[in-house]
Amino acid sequence: MMSLMICSRTVTGFLARQTQHSSCRPKRCLHYYNSQWIQRRPSQKSIIATRAAEQEEEEEDSGSTTETEDPFSEYRNKNNINDQVVSGISGQGGIKVTVCTIRNMINDLMIQHTMTEVPIQAMGRTLTCSLLIANGMQKEQTVQITLNSNGPLRGLVAIASGGGKCRGFVGSPMLGDMSIFEAVGKGVLQVVKNHPEWPRPYNGITAIQHGDIDRDVGIYLAESEQRSCALAAATAVKGILCVAAGGYLIEQLPGVTDEEVAQIEKNLAKLVEMDGGDQLPTNLLLSGTTPVDIMEIILDGLDAQPLQQLTPNLECDCTEDRLLRAIRLLPASEVDDLLEKEEQLEARCEFCGKVYRMESWEVKEKLEQADGDPSLDSEFEDKGKK
Ligand SMILES: [Zn+2]
Repeated sequence: MMSLMICSRTVTGFLARQTQHSSCRPKRCLHYYNSQWIQRRPSQKSIIATRAAEQEEEEEDSGSTTETEDPFSEYRNKNNINDQVVSGISGQGGIKVTVCTIRNMINDLMIQHTMTEVPIQAMGRTLTCSLLIANGMQKEQTVQITLNSNGPLRGLVAIASGGGKCRGFVGSPMLGDMSIFEAVGKGVLQVVKNHPEWPRPYNGITAIQHGDIDRDVGIYLAESEQRSCALAAATAVKGILCVAAGGYLIEQLPGVTDEEVAQIEKNLAKLVEMDGGDQLPTNLLLSGTTPVDIMEIILDGLDAQPLQQLTPNLECDCTEDRLLRAIRLLPASEVDDLLEKEEQLEARCEFCGKVYRMESWEVKEKLEQADGDPSLDSEFEDKGKK
């Protein structure tokens, strides 16, 4: 059973597909956007040059033999007190690792939506995946994962931005005792990537094969985006409290060597053994192993270098203007009908639960004055700033 776990969840997560970003870069396709962080990090040559310069300095400064400094000193998060996303890269630049802990956020979501254990499991895993995939993207770029499935959960949406802004909701927040597979059921997993300045979002879809979410997202990454990666996301709930939530994403970058891949597989097997459970990596998180610790285990022997850390937070961007835009996207006859019948319109934001109430005459007036394409964020960005 244990070896099966290692096999399915982690090591063979490296489906042997090589990314071919360079060929599609001029077209600014999805892979181009996905690979932006590769350009943002210092190139291998400059890393080596900087290190050589540092070494020279050290040698010149022979009087003080400096201890090797901890490159992750600012990234430590004792006992996982804070929610955190941390990313790092192997010294040779072939492997990127992103790890997160989001226990506080999941507890807040649990209260916000009065969710029971199974929906919170599903939400914790999906939001972790969104957050891990969004890491390294531009601050405003979003990754939305939607489960459109026939299980009693009745679907789920989780959105995270490159800057760590998160939100989400499930179709049925109150579910009794059942497995996550049963709750999710059969259907499709959809991934939508968007940016306020893009003319249209990028869309990917894959059939739900496992129902445990992280493996399905991993399949999506391998099949739809040709990304060779290993992904794990899990949530541990005790009673009405989420005690651990988080996961990791390990990606092979262009130019990765066989040695790097072999070392990662060895390290991953060790990580699975250290966690010892089937909800990887919640046992590690519970025992106080932080995202940086987990990254160091995964990149052990590969000269881990920090890339970024951020604090994710729950944040909804619903406003009355957005609600009006949503109304404008409905068929006009339907809206007219509604405005005639009702004196007051009431709408509730599915993400944060905020209720908006507007008089029908007020809505009518605002709709008459409205301009800009309601489906395009870009046409409304400037107005919001004024
Ligand atoms: Zn909202």
